[in-house]
Amino acid sequence: MSAAPACVACGHPGIPILYGLPTPEAWQAHREGLIEVAGCFRPDEAPHWTCEQRHTWSTNEAQWDAALDGAVEGRPYCPVCGGHTRDLLYTLAEHYQRELADGRAEVATKPGPAGIHRARICRACRTVLPLSRMSKGVVRLIAEDPSVSLGPDQADRIQAWLGELVPTTTYHIRREPPVEITITGHIAWGLQPPILEQVEAVAECRFQVEATAH
Ligand SMILES: [Zn+2]
Ligand SMILES: [Zn+2]
Repeated sequence: MSAAPACVACGHPGIPILYGLPTPEAWQAHREGLIEVAGCFRPDEAPHWTCEQRHTWSTNEAQWDAALDGAVEGRPYCPVCGGHTRDLLYTLAEHYQRELADGRAEVATKPGPAGIHRARICRACRTVLPLSRMSKGVVRLIAEDPSVSLGPDQADRIQAWLGELVPTTTYHIRREPPVEITITGHIAWGLQPPILEQVEAVAECRFQVEATAH
């Protein structure tokens, strides 16, 4: 992990700012003072770093990403032995090539509980953390292009895919511009990127994500 850049205004070390709904491990890193949590909506000119004097600034994305990844690495800690944990993937391993390559995730050898996409596993004692890693709330996917609309078959494909991936939710798809997909219910942590990826592939348009936790 590269050293955090010093604040240009006061010289204190930079703390990376996390945007989006924080995972449990991100909350742990936040409690340890390793990251700042900015909330769900990411402004266009979102700064990458803050400091203890609350200055904000940006560097390159790679340095910022590496600092965020490093801060949550190994968390949450194992409740049995205190060891570091990593992702245990039951499905969708193809979306986690980077994490699998650098050891932050592994593929489960046994199928997981129905509808559960991933868990955490202790690297030391192999305890699987029970998956309380669900957030209840509303996720809205809003088309970035306000002129885009969805055909009936596109909406059907998205609906079928959501039904398979997040069966415990209800969803509403507005096909007319501005296209908006609202998902309400329990969504496992980590499912947002695959959902977004699939919706963008079917709709052939970029979407913004707004998540509200309950
Ligand atoms: Zn500063
Ligand atoms: Zn353990």
